[in-house]
Amino acid sequence: MKYFSWLFLALFAAACAQPNEQSNTTAEPEPAIEVAPGAPKGEGIVIAALETESVEADVEDDAADDPALWYDAGQPELSLIIGSNKTRGLDVYSLSGKRLASYNVGPINNVDVRQGWLGEYDLVGGSHRVKIGMDFWLVNKNTRELEFLGSIASNLEDVYGFCLYKDPSTNEVHAFVNSKTGKVEQWMLTMDNGSMGGTLVRELQLQSQVEGMVADDELGVIYVGVEEGGIYKFGVGAGDSPKGTLVLNSNQDNLAIQYDVEGLTIYSTGPSSGYLIASSQGNNTYAVFDRSGQNEYLGSFEIKDGVVDGVQETDGIHATSLPLGSEFPMGVFMCQDGFNFDGETKVSQNFKVVDWRMISDWME
Ligand code: CA
Ligand code: CA
Ligand code: CA
Ligand code: CA
Ligand code: CA
Repeated sequence: MKYFSWLFLALFAAACAQPNEQSNTTAEPEPAIEVAPGAPKGEGIVIAALETESVEADVEDDAADDPALWYDAGQPELSLIIGSNKTRGLDVYSLSGKRLASYNVGPINNVDVRQGWLGEYDLVGGSHRVKIGMDFWLVNKNTRELEFLGSIASNLEDVYGFCLYKDPSTNEVHAFVNSKTGKVEQWMLTMDNGSMGGTLVRELQLQSQVEGMVADDELGVIYVGVEEGGIYKFGVGAGDSPKGTLVLNSNQDNLAIQYDVEGLTIYSTGPSSGYLIASSQGNNTYAVFDRSGQNEYLGSFEIKDGVVDGVQETDGIHATSLPLGSEFPMGVFMCQDGFNFDGETKVSQNFKVVDWRMISDWME
């Protein structure tokens, strides 16, 4: 017994004396891909094609958070990446990662885009943590700038995650915003003589802290990530059940999602086919589920060092299957990188862009 006590003490002392990899904030966390048994696609390894310029923030700041895309149908290669910097606002980047504009509008946590709102407006929205509400902009298609449209105050104690939903039959857009308490508000957005408003449609209550959300417009559902509880699915209709369905294979017994569940996104391959993807922050991977049916878990992938550094501790993600010119004919997967390195040097956070073909090569 005595021997073991001393051994424990010696190990404890050694652990205290040595710099600890985990708590050293300049160290890049070890990737630890572990895939749930029976995942049909197994484990994928991809690399990013490029990264955006770093956000304006201190190296140690958790600042970049959530990417979105504005699609230029006329010149798809000129589409814009819109990323939140949760310390100061929104940044707009070209598809080569160059920052084109910064909007220092305050702490926007999550951002989302829906084009063709009411048939004519390209809408950008974000959750504003100081205003405790949502801010909205329109993309001016000529100048390609964001023009502030208005704000909606939330009734929540605080605002955190955010996403948009567009009804494909009416072109109406709803905004979903959530609180760390697990509450979600659904607002229908209105436009009246150029001034926007919103009507609270309903509230949902989840069991604990939520953040990442994504709406599947065609299938009329919204997925909400309970950071330590998995992904829940709800119908978007005002009369739909307020009781979510737990997406299969995203609970604590499964390796598909390791806490926290963060960003969620949809990659569509047809009107009702494609994938639901979740950032599994706890093991630096992305879990891929069938978009339709019971959301069967298909496998997980990881973004390793390559052209640019690999990706760790991702918050927001966004995927699109829209063709983005010759570089990205099947679209992209974009994600925040919590530990951005240029060579051996840790620099401020940014977003990485993965050519979807790399992911589809693994999926097939
Ligand atoms: Ca983070
Ligand atoms: Ca988003
Ligand atoms: Ca979070
Ligand atoms: Ca990295
Ligand atoms: Ca880098």
